[in-house]
Amino acid sequence: MENKRVYFIEGDGIGPEIFRAAKKVIDRAVEVEYNGEKKIEWIEILAGEKAFKETGSYLPDETLKTLKQEAEVAIKGPLTTPVGAGFRSLNVTLRQTFDLYACIRPVRYFKGLETPVKHPELVDMVIFRENTEDVYAGIEWEAGAREARKLIDFIKQELEVNIDPLAAIGIKPITEFGSKRLIRKAIRYAIENKRKSVTLMHKGNIMKFTEGGFRKWGYEVMEEEEFRSRCVREGEDGVEDKVIIKDRIADNMFQQILTRPAEYDVIATTNLNGDYISDALAAQVGGLGLAPGANIGDDLALFEPTHGSVPKRAGTDTANPCSLILSGALMLDYMGWSGAAKRIEEAIEKAIARREVTQDLARLMDGAKVVGCQRFGEIIAENL
Ligand code: NAD
Repeated sequence: MENKRVYFIEGDGIGPEIFRAAKKVIDRAVEVEYNGEKKIEWIEILAGEKAFKETGSYLPDETLKTLKQEAEVAIKGPLTTPVGAGFRSLNVTLRQTFDLYACIRPVRYFKGLETPVKHPELVDMVIFRENTEDVYAGIEWEAGAREARKLIDFIKQELEVNIDPLAAIGIKPITEFGSKRLIRKAIRYAIENKRKSVTLMHKGNIMKFTEGGFRKWGYEVMEEEEFRSRCVREGEDGVEDKVIIKDRIADNMFQQILTRPAEYDVIATTNLNGDYISDALAAQVGGLGLAPGANIGDDLALFEPTHGSVPKRAGTDTANPCSLILSGALMLDYMGWSGAAKRIEEAIEKAIARREVTQDLARLMDGAKVVGCQRFGEIIAENL
């Protein structure tokens, strides 16, 4: 009997209900695939509203300590972050504290779904989003704040650049180290999984040194010894069996994924671009309810859906649990339990073919029957 420990955070809003549905599917997939010889030992850790209620802290020290000292694999539901004021994002804090630098989000189409585009089946991409830098690092000051004014004064005096003294200020750090380690992971993934290309998505025409730096460092990575013989630059000869490295400007990339989805495969990008393109691509194949993700560092892997806590649906049993179920499949794959992961993907496809789905998918499918979150989880489990 092989047991593996998985630490979990239920999450806020729809988190607890999608978690309940997902856990049953994940456990059942492992049981069926390995005839009861492997098992997940689930250990709860607290974060978000539940943590605040029980301990007075949204991210208790105990949680950080457990993740640091014990956990190699964890999975979480979405956590709510107030807009404009209040506490800092717990998600960003977790990614930064544990240096979970690669946010990996596969986006694929499930047969049977009707979606907003004509050929969703052409979408089969994996986003590698840098997860620790960029304006997402949260280094910013409110308009009129002492720190913002001080910085504006400094920039005026020392660098002779005028900024409105009442501007809010945000800082966008992008490093060679951070960009390269993310891009290496993306290219390595493309090689190992026989993917055709890696596209560096950036806004380097305008933000020349930050986003442009990301692009430049990306092309430098492909010249490194590990990759030199296995990659070619777009337009070069000798493409056979090699990964093509190309780049696209971010705004163009948004139309490319709609008009020429078959031409894109692995996408490596900066933090904010990655956030935007993840939701856009998810919409192309049926929405955020089917969008899984992983935050990977060198010591810890934390799996989570791409979407947020959907507060308006909390407690209504109407959310789609598939994003968390598929995040669980990514986790099983990461743990080396790929058979169970594959089973989950197949079971979701079969469940969709039955046309009994949650409201987000039913809305896109003529004549589909709407079922609740728990029932949809049961239908998936029945198909394992
Ligand atoms: P959201 O992702 O929670 O919801 C956007 C829309 O997507 C919803 O209105 C809903 O129509 C749809 N949707 C998302 N997941 C779904 C599901 N499982 N089933 C059915 N429909 C689904 O985005 P938001 O409303 O912008 O954010 C709500 C909160 O979540 C905010 O506090 C935000 O900061 C937080 N958030 C957290 C994470 C995270 O934990 N990693 C990620 C994004 C947003």
